[in-house]
Amino acid sequence: LPPQLRKVAPTVWELPVSYKDGMLVPARIIATEGLLAGMEAGVFEQTANVACLPGILKYAYCMPDGHWGYGFPIGGVAAMDPTSGVISPGGIGFDINCGMRLVLTTLTEEEVRPRLRQLVDLMFARIPTGVGCTGFVRCSRSEFRQVLEKGSHWCREKGYAWPEDLEMTEEGGCFGGADPDAVSDKATLRGFDQIGTLGSGNHYCEIQVARPENIFDAATARSFGITIPNQVVVMFHCGSRGFGHQVATDYLQSFLRVMTTKYGIQLPDRELACAPFRSPEGQAYFAAMKCAVNMGFANRQVILYRLREVFSQIFHRSPEELGMRMVYDVAHNTAKLERHLVDGTLREVLVHRKGATRAFGPGMAGIPACYRETGQPVIIGGSMETGSYLLAGEAGAAATFFTTAHGSGRTMSRHQAKKMVRGQKLLGEMEQRGIYVRTDSWGGLAEEAGFAYKDIDLVTAATEEAGLSRRVVKLVPMGNIKG
Ligand code: 5GP
Ligand code: MN
Ligand code: MN
Repeated sequence: LPPQLRKVAPTVWELPVSYKDGMLVPARIIATEGLLAGMEAGVFEQTANVACLPGILKYAYCMPDGHWGYGFPIGGVAAMDPTSGVISPGGIGFDINCGMRLVLTTLTEEEVRPRLRQLVDLMFARIPTGVGCTGFVRCSRSEFRQVLEKGSHWCREKGYAWPEDLEMTEEGGCFGGADPDAVSDKATLRGFDQIGTLGSGNHYCEIQVARPENIFDAATARSFGITIPNQVVVMFHCGSRGFGHQVATDYLQSFLRVMTTKYGIQLPDRELACAPFRSPEGQAYFAAMKCAVNMGFANRQVILYRLREVFSQIFHRSPEELGMRMVYDVAHNTAKLERHLVDGTLREVLVHRKGATRAFGPGMAGIPACYRETGQPVIIGGSMETGSYLLAGEAGAAATFFTTAHGSGRTMSRHQAKKMVRGQKLLGEMEQRGIYVRTDSWGGLAEEAGFAYKDIDLVTAATEEAGLSRRVVKLVPMGNIKG
């Protein structure tokens, strides 16, 4: 640990501006003592680097699931003054609007177990997985512009969404102000046929069960629709596929060309490439990023459409009869203009969240009316072996611009994990434990072994102790399709 690191609260660790040349604000790591001890050295360096970005307000943050990333750590949070500050693709991530969606059913574990293989096999057949996979939606390039502008609204027009799905999606499933003209042809070519696809690696669609002994907050669980003992739910995780990746790549290059020469910005790490938010380059990226955000929402919405078909086919009831309502859809790779209290004044700020989940607390505007009293649902993946969490946003998250963790976070590189276990063996072991997994990449599966991730129980407990989000229910895996 850096010797300058100071404990400022039981779960808050601070590096002062004197830690590194160029820091404009202190860097703060949210973690328990135990999680802090396991943090990579890179997390401290990268969070301190983020603190050097022009216009950053208050603190550069890293969440308890933090680990090394491109430029920003995964788990990085930074709010910028929109007038004097910058926007940085490294603070959003290559998979723009990567996010988590949680869907209810009224089925129980007892009802699903006998059909589990059939169900997962059909999911695997119907929801495309793997690098470069394409979807069933036939979408011309001009139609794709509509997807980019409208996000989930496009899905609703095409019959892929229930009206209530949009309400249960962050920002209603569409970031306003998306401009398809800010997007390269290359990005469009990579993305227009990928709607409704999961992609590869850590993206997944998982059947989970909410067991009574895993309920932390029964009242909130009920408000979130967890009402039956051993209720089965589906959690899935994916983003904007090749499209978002290309948007990020395009603008990183654009920013590197102008950052120093045109705008005179000097930074400790080129990976933090940025442009003034109000500059033409910054605004073009923001408008293109919103296109990728909307592509991400549409992608998850079409996956939900497919998932409803699959359940309906296996259980011979309509999705409505099966109670396949959304709990929520929440992004963890975005930048957004939001209003927050800064030093006692409510003001507009540009919040970067990279591997970090928005966590609006009780009473806040911008979340569905049915969640006004509980705070927004926060959906956090653990690993395919160990379980995941549904949490609720808390008032204490004001400190982090209403942001919490997004997962358990890796403890080792993909390369390292692959050396420790073989995918086929892992699959067999999981099956013995009642978790049925389908994948088209053995190597990819090995990279995702439970031991490659931090302990999700400790990470979510840390967010609760820090007052960012409280645990509602731990969800245990039964079946999974992995990218
Ligand atoms: P990321 O957004 O950084 O790619 O990953 C999100 C988080 O999802 C990871 O930190 C990890 O905790 C979790 N995760 C990855 N794969 C799986 C999976 O197959 N199932 C579940 N439940 N969680 C996963
Ligand atoms: Mn992703
Ligand atoms: Mn993600």
